[in-house]
Amino acid sequence: MSANAFAGAQLTIDLDAIVANWRSLGTRLKKGSQVAGVVKANAFGLGIEAVAPALYAAGCRKFFSASLDEGIALRAILPESRIYVFSGPLPEEAEEFSRQRLIPVLNDLGQIDTWRAQYSAGNGSKDRQTAVLHVDTGMSRLGLPANELACLVAEPERLHGLNITYIMSHLACAEERDQAMNRAQLLEFKAALRSLNADRIPAKASFANSSGIFLGADYHFDLARPGAALYGLNPTPGRPNPMAEVIRLEGKIRQVRHIDTGRSVGYGASHVVTRPSRIATVPVGYADGYLRSASNQANAYIRGVQAPIVGRVSMDMITLDVTEISAEFTQPGAPVDLIGGAYPVDAFAADSGTIGYEILTSLGQRYRRCYIENGKERAAFK
Ligand SMILES: *Cc1c(COP(=O)(O)O)cnc(C)c1O
Repeated sequence: MSANAFAGAQLTIDLDAIVANWRSLGTRLKKGSQVAGVVKANAFGLGIEAVAPALYAAGCRKFFSASLDEGIALRAILPESRIYVFSGPLPEEAEEFSRQRLIPVLNDLGQIDTWRAQYSAGNGSKDRQTAVLHVDTGMSRLGLPANELACLVAEPERLHGLNITYIMSHLACAEERDQAMNRAQLLEFKAALRSLNADRIPAKASFANSSGIFLGADYHFDLARPGAALYGLNPTPGRPNPMAEVIRLEGKIRQVRHIDTGRSVGYGASHVVTRPSRIATVPVGYADGYLRSASNQANAYIRGVQAPIVGRVSMDMITLDVTEISAEFTQPGAPVDLIGGAYPVDAFAADSGTIGYEILTSLGQRYRRCYIENGKERAAFK
């Protein structure tokens, strides 16, 4: 029997749509620019062991992970692919990076020194240590700050022993088309490229995340790093979603009850009905990553009709007001659309006070996971 055979909800993940999204992003890039696959956080919660091989089969050969552990897990799945790790090495991690043939993104002078020492130590291969160099242009999170960049430009020998294949930076506001910060970051990145290339690092450049691809050819450079758009999130908020839908979450009604005016629903009695009502209980809750902030805010859909979430999201249950929906369609066992279709993940996220990224990466382990691949359904991989 497949895992979670009697789960309260089924999560369907469309690998064909992920592949279609990867391809369609490629067609939007200027000539010569490539698309990597950002598969950090277990491919945004959708399952690295399913998503990575699907992208690889489609021709993706550059993958980004967040951490050394994620890189190691991905190496076991994709023995041949190039795997980059956003979080560069601490000294005690450098050897494992080498052993696993992971390419670190070097974020500061310390990481540069660490990776160079790995070369000097003669560990791994005799080739220079391949790496990506990250310059900060506005995130103030990872990447060389201006003073460290200046230091590197003044002392290019700090890069001796390294094979820098890409210089990258990361946009802070790419999903806001008209944000002045986008252009400011672009100019700062170009200035950084000029100053570093002056020292004859023959590196290519990588700048755009999902939304950055939609800011135009100036932002494309040699390698785009989309995550969210691969997984169907809208990279152009406020405009129609150009990506194919990837996930659907469907639950089933467990119980329906009639309650009278003045009765409350759920913990904290946060919802009190003002008319005789029918309340349907569906077995998903915050333990499934169905965020508590959806309480009294988000919706579900039954046969295309909106059923508002009333009362608080519990650990294992939500309660819907189905008073307006025919009793015929609200019996125990009746299907409920929780995410997808009429209610895209971005809309559910907005109603829950968050972004689609957080909804995807929170998707729980109790759902029955079902993948669509080459038009066919297959059960979860594990
Ligand atoms: C997560 C991440 C990406 C992907 O961003 P999306 O908005 O999901 O496309 C790209 N680059 C870096 C540095 C990241 O951390």
